[in-house]
Amino acid sequence: MIPAAFDYVAPTSVEEALAALAQYGDDAKIIAGGQSLLPVLRMRLNAPEWIIDLRKIESLRGIRDDGDAIVIGAMTPHSVVGSDPLVREHATLISEAVGHLADAQIRHRGTFGGALAHADPAGDLGAPVLCLGAEFVIAGSGGTRTVAADDFFVDLFETAIGDDEILTEVRIPKHTGWGAHYEKMVRVAHQWPIVSVAATVRMDGGTIAEARVGFANMGSTALRARGVEEALAGQPATEDGVRAAAERAAEGTNPPSDLNGDAEYKKHVVGVLTRRAVLAAAGS
Ligand SMILES: Cc1cc2nc3c(=O)[nH]c(=O)nc-3n(C[C@H](O)[C@H](O)[C@H](O)COP(=O)(O)OP(=O)(O)OC[C@H]3O[C@@H](n4cnc5c(N)ncnc54)[C@H](O)[C@@H]3O)c2cc1C
Repeated sequence: MIPAAFDYVAPTSVEEALAALAQYGDDAKIIAGGQSLLPVLRMRLNAPEWIIDLRKIESLRGIRDDGDAIVIGAMTPHSVVGSDPLVREHATLISEAVGHLADAQIRHRGTFGGALAHADPAGDLGAPVLCLGAEFVIAGSGGTRTVAADDFFVDLFETAIGDDEILTEVRIPKHTGWGAHYEKMVRVAHQWPIVSVAATVRMDGGTIAEARVGFANMGSTALRARGVEEALAGQPATEDGVRAAAERAAEGTNPPSDLNGDAEYKKHVVGVLTRRAVLAAAGS
């Protein structure tokens, strides 16, 4: 279908974009790469009167080293994030996950910030940013504020970003030297995950000193698997040690039942993928 008619503005600064949001209020919608918003408009699930396009705001693009963190601009395309050496070295889990996200065309158009702002619980980036303890920098008329990853995903397609605010960048604390692996279950290539598991571990010899594990499509938001993390700390990175911890994977999850499988099936799958992801991250 063709979207309902709308007016269009493409500001060149965050301040101008915020002014447009304030002016048009509930009648306006931000567009980044359009890979999620355009299908919504075409299906007429939303019909904003104004589209505010962020593509001309150069300050929202790029990746930089900021001491103990790397900072990814909200408008940085997935393809750039996925091939960036800083991300590969200090936030390997993000590189791993982006490599599994959709296909090359969507990775070229879609943006890091757009995907996180969209907050699809099956999105590939939610679990990695939770695992890495990312911070979200959000601009509004009163200035900028920073929201921790644990507080960013509120519910299905809902985040801490207010209607009059813009996500400008995501700060990711460096996890240099941590092993990382992203395990995604799909039936066909380039599909959204049926279930996926993000795992990153800090090793001390053959022992898992610290582990972070997160899930996609196991609830109304991306989730952190605290029970698994707790059980992994201090364990040898062996098949048996990791298997026992992975048995706690389904704790606190509430996956949707759909044509790809019911909730019980996904609760089984998440345990299997957790074991695989942790062992791979640990290099075993
Ligand atoms: C066929 C297809 C397959 C896909 N497969 C996958 C997949 O396997 N895994 C996966 O993770 N994703 C997948 N995607 C989604 C893809 O990752 C999109 O890039 C992403 O969801 C949205 O990014 P975008 O830049 O296109 O945002 P847009 O579509 O432009 O915007 C999405 C939403 O976020 C809001 N928004 C965007 N930027 C900001 C900002 N800076 N501040 C505040 N609000 C903002 C918009 O208003 C809108 O509500 C797929 C998409 C398609 C079309």
